[in-house]
Amino acid sequence: MEVSEFLIESVLHEKFGLAQFRPKQREVIDLVLAGKHTLALLPTGYGKSLCYQVPSQILPGTTIVISPLIALMQDQLSGLAKRGISNATILNSSVSMDDVDFRIAGIKAGAYKLVFVAPERFESPRFRNLLEAIDVSLLVIDEAHCISQWGHDFRPQYRNLSSYVAKLEKATILALTATATPQVQKDILQSLHLPQLHLVTGSFDRPNIRFEVEQAGSSAEKDKFIFKTLRKENAISIIYTSSRREAEGLSDRLRHSGISAACYHAGLGAELRSRTQKQFESEKITTIVSTVAFGMGVDKSNIRRVIHYNLPGSLESYYQEAGRAGRDGNRAICTLLFQSKDIHTQRWLMDRNFPSASQVERAFKLIAANGINAMRLSEIQSELDIPESALNSALDLLKYLQLIDTAPDGSFSARVLSSPIDMNWLNQRKTRHTQRLEQMIRYAQDHICRRRQILGYFGQSTDVCSGCDVCEPNMILACATSTDPVNDRTATRNSRSADSNLSQSILQLACQLSGKVGRTTLAQILSGSGAKKLKESGYTRMPLFGTFKSFKQDQVLSEIDELVEADDLQVSTGMYPKVQITGSGLAKMKNASSSV
Ligand SMILES: [Zn+2]
Repeated sequence: MEVSEFLIESVLHEKFGLAQFRPKQREVIDLVLAGKHTLALLPTGYGKSLCYQVPSQILPGTTIVISPLIALMQDQLSGLAKRGISNATILNSSVSMDDVDFRIAGIKAGAYKLVFVAPERFESPRFRNLLEAIDVSLLVIDEAHCISQWGHDFRPQYRNLSSYVAKLEKATILALTATATPQVQKDILQSLHLPQLHLVTGSFDRPNIRFEVEQAGSSAEKDKFIFKTLRKENAISIIYTSSRREAEGLSDRLRHSGISAACYHAGLGAELRSRTQKQFESEKITTIVSTVAFGMGVDKSNIRRVIHYNLPGSLESYYQEAGRAGRDGNRAICTLLFQSKDIHTQRWLMDRNFPSASQVERAFKLIAANGINAMRLSEIQSELDIPESALNSALDLLKYLQLIDTAPDGSFSARVLSSPIDMNWLNQRKTRHTQRLEQMIRYAQDHICRRRQILGYFGQSTDVCSGCDVCEPNMILACATSTDPVNDRTATRNSRSADSNLSQSILQLACQLSGKVGRTTLAQILSGSGAKKLKESGYTRMPLFGTFKSFKQDQVLSEIDELVEADDLQVSTGMYPKVQITGSGLAKMKNASSSV
């Protein structure tokens, strides 16, 4: 479809009230409007929803968005309503039958440009008939990593989508995800069986976030770190725990010591959750202690700290949760508190996600014994003594083996009355989960740049780390470029100490870039030079960039030469001599950082 530049821009301004697109959004929108199937891999901060919201208002037919969670759909709908866009609706199990009838009639009559559905909806013949009766211009698969069995959040309902996608011949397909390893990307491409899929990828690097791992000997030490940090920073923070009990306990302890904190998890009532979320958004509460339930759809860009109280199950989960910090582009810090005991807890928790062969068999026999009467998850659970997560995995396997069906309301019924159960699929899944957990453990234990580990996991790389506890154990100077009012006091103090300590910064920078650059580049970085190659190599994003703007480049160069003279730095021989820190330079740097 030929769409004028003017039309796209005016939809953006008038309907969405936005001045301009963020990077990559326009590229995706252009592809979609040109009818090209696209996989957009846009990490947090790129604003992936706009990539279908804008086309939905331009394309002639309906846009169908497949989304895995009711909460996500509702967030989208209320976000659109706030902008005055009312031609969107939802079809999921939370909608009453009467309402479903009403909405389907509306979709047929063309009253809705945008329809959010759960993947299970495609199993309903009525919905499939509807799709045949209307003109679907765009089919969006949100959270597309759920298609992949390699992903951290695989959902079997997503796996079946490809057969329905193939039937929607006229629709353009847009698969969106904020998180996908190279293997998951490949899996998404293969599962969709499309002749061609254009790939748009955003960088996974979040230069404004500093990553840290804090080793703790006990829970008391973790608490001590949290209390100290929150008191000192008094900034908007999220603390993630792995259990509801821990979230409640920690938020109680924080409140008792006078810190503005609240607890959030899926076990709390909807009203309390929504109240807590609102109080956090309006900053009446500055710290949320939460299970992973919190964060999806939280529209708060100035979160300055994300602390993980426990080890997450995978780097994808970790990065997704940590990535909620600093969405405004200002400096933020993500800390993982790590106690070696956490490894055993996580392994134990992971085991609980996987049922034994006899548990799967019991679940299947129970559903089959009910014949044509579909059973709800809560009914199955009350009959069998199996942990919820293991039961869910058992049901996933039974669905995968096509032994049971799921109705659009989420209830289960058996397709056959008896059958041997092959556990192979579930065993493979367990192996992948174990591998991911082991990678997460390595992240916490290895003394390797955290940013490089994360980016490497997503198949990307960087020459420059803009801040982690490995590359930059002494964070003080890193804060000097902060534009954040919360840290401004520290920043001023630091830039003063930086002024008096040019040699320390040179040593630190030489250490971070370890033999990659020569003396001129070092001096250019510190004096904030406008040279093009600095920007191209990513050096302008380093926290030390421009810390000595008030100095002439020559002054910095002569200081570098003095350090070489004193044997704190050494310069390699060859056509392009590079600067490297020496043992004595390293010792001076460490001494200075411990005395700060
Ligand atoms: Zn690093």
